[in-house]
Amino acid sequence: MRIADRTRALGTETAFAVAARAAAHAATGAAVYPFHLGDLNFKTPENIVEAANKAIRDGKTGYCPNGGILPLRETLANDVNSRRTTEYTAENVSIQPGGKPVIGKFLQVLMNPGDEVLCPTPGYPIYESQIEYLGGIVRPYGFIPGKNGFVIDLEGLEKAISPKTKAIIINDYQNPTGASCTEEERKKLAELAQRHDLAVLLDEAYFEIHYSGTGKSIVDYGDMAKRSVLLYTFSKKFAMTGWRLGAALGPKPVIDLITKLNVNDESCTNHFVQYAGLAGLTGDHSGPAAIVDALRERRDAAVALLNATPGVSCYTPEASFYLFPDVTDLMRAKGFGDDYAAFAEDVLAKTGVSFCTRLHFGAPLPGEERRYIRLAYSGIDVAAIKEGLGALKTYAGG
Ligand code: PLP
Repeated sequence: MRIADRTRALGTETAFAVAARAAAHAATGAAVYPFHLGDLNFKTPENIVEAANKAIRDGKTGYCPNGGILPLRETLANDVNSRRTTEYTAENVSIQPGGKPVIGKFLQVLMNPGDEVLCPTPGYPIYESQIEYLGGIVRPYGFIPGKNGFVIDLEGLEKAISPKTKAIIINDYQNPTGASCTEEERKKLAELAQRHDLAVLLDEAYFEIHYSGTGKSIVDYGDMAKRSVLLYTFSKKFAMTGWRLGAALGPKPVIDLITKLNVNDESCTNHFVQYAGLAGLTGDHSGPAAIVDALRERRDAAVALLNATPGVSCYTPEASFYLFPDVTDLMRAKGFGDDYAAFAEDVLAKTGVSFCTRLHFGAPLPGEERRYIRLAYSGIDVAAIKEGLGALKTYAGG
């Protein structure tokens, strides 16, 4: 068979390759500390599981409306509004099989081939993959290490805008850096989007994995609600990654087209899973709260050990479940210089600690001098964090 040319532009999530290497190492009988994949090792809360079982028993097993069942769309609109100043109704919601499909569908509806799209680097690799697959041009913008965390290089971002720029992807709170936008960044992003008339994909996959205070959304700034599609997911907050449930929220004409893509792609999101999601939103919230509490404890244990490791420094992010420590000095001290692959392999072999590196999240920008790795603490408990990062500390001579 002759494969279509466009498939050459399709990227992937290389974190899965790291998972395969870690599994191969574990198969030798060695201990492995899995910091590589953003999956959760928590059970989905019981009320959600029970709602799914009941929905199956009740026969919610056929096709359902392409944009999702009305009670879920209504409830999700209200839930999202309760944390933002938006006024979404069911008409502004298209239920999806996960948050990820929103990325490609946003681009299919709002980006023409040849259009430029601003995209974070380091960033979730699917943005770049989908932009290029659909014939767009990636205009990357970067992050700068600030006082309390990474901040967007707003000057670089502004310089990357041209008359061909049609859209911007913003991921707040951010994977892989764990960064939260500051008030100033949010204002500036909203102002830039308005000035250059950009469509905005606002990826808020980690909005509710938030450790202090409540999350703030860029959709509340300027005219962002009118020009944004918000990516919502049940995956992280409710430990539902494998259930595949998410949504796109935004202006009705765009949401209607996203739902038309649902008709063409999957017809509808799994019917009974939507009742499970509904139970998550309306029912007992102690499950998600316990998940955030456990994640906070893991974050604190991991950050403390990383900052006690020679050649490593790490911020304490207020959201997400990722750490993005600077390991430049450790890599140099160990003689790896810029060779991330050799460094990751050596650390895995000698300590069992498995992680992704900066390179799994897009190509570094010119002038990016520091070296980073990404540790996800969503799939590893505190005891294993202490053991694994304790071994890393010893490896580093600490
Ligand atoms: N956006 C970001 C930044 C993510 O990290 C992820 C998953 O890791 C997603 C979107 C999509 O998640 P899901 O499809 O499980 O909702």
